[in-house]
Amino acid sequence: MSDVVNTPETIPALQLRGVTKTYKQGEPGEIAVLKGVDLTIQPGEIVALVAPSGAGKSTLLHIAGLLDGADAGQVSICGEDMQGRSDRKRTRVRRDQLGFVYQFHHLLPEFTALENIVLPLLANGVPKPEAEARALSLLDSVGVKPRADHRPAAMSGGEQQRVAFCRAMANEPRVLLADEPTGNLDPATSDRVFDALVRLVRETGLCALIATHNLELAQRMDRRVALEDGHLRAL
Ligand code: ADP
Repeated sequence: MSDVVNTPETIPALQLRGVTKTYKQGEPGEIAVLKGVDLTIQPGEIVALVAPSGAGKSTLLHIAGLLDGADAGQVSICGEDMQGRSDRKRTRVRRDQLGFVYQFHHLLPEFTALENIVLPLLANGVPKPEAEARALSLLDSVGVKPRADHRPAAMSGGEQQRVAFCRAMANEPRVLLADEPTGNLDPATSDRVFDALVRLVRETGLCALIATHNLELAQRMDRRVALEDGHLRAL
């Protein structure tokens, strides 16, 4: 056996080590939501995060997504520990390496599907023709290209959510974080939309941490972790 060397293939896309988070609330005072969370996700892996409501899924995703800081522990993105780094650095990593999908799509209502995907690309300095070509190709890969010129209100819930996936992937992140991404869709639509998400993740080779209540969807991911009493355990 050769020694393990840190080639790009062995650097985890996302790694949490000993992450803790306690919120201060009126009475009884404090609530320890994360008590030492360890999680390592390699590039290309899709991991389901399963937990009942209130267990701390959103807290965990916010910390992994650098939207909030942990009290202690390490959060590494592509091998770089982000705890204690400047806001500027965290914002840059968030913009360049992380993609987010929420339960509700949060698309901008006054813009078309295409424009919603193009905007973050333009903000990152991608020239407009290239941005539009990339947005159309993303829409095509999730079967929503015919809706490119529609505003969100003129699309179904499943179409809106697929556009939101495309937007999250527009800047070619290394890590996708999703909080109940099909939670507000009916089961049949949820199934199709989830397939589109998995295909997109597989095509781009990024890693994904996807919170879901849906155990059937969780079974279709590479592996599952449950958040219980502040710790993660493999399911
Ligand atoms: P989930 O996403 O699994 O439903 P959350 O991460 O939203 O769970 O919340 C976990 C616990 O932490 C809940 O008891 C919630 O009330 C509490 N909590 C979440 N955010 C805050 C906050 N900003 N301040 C105080 N308590 C919070």
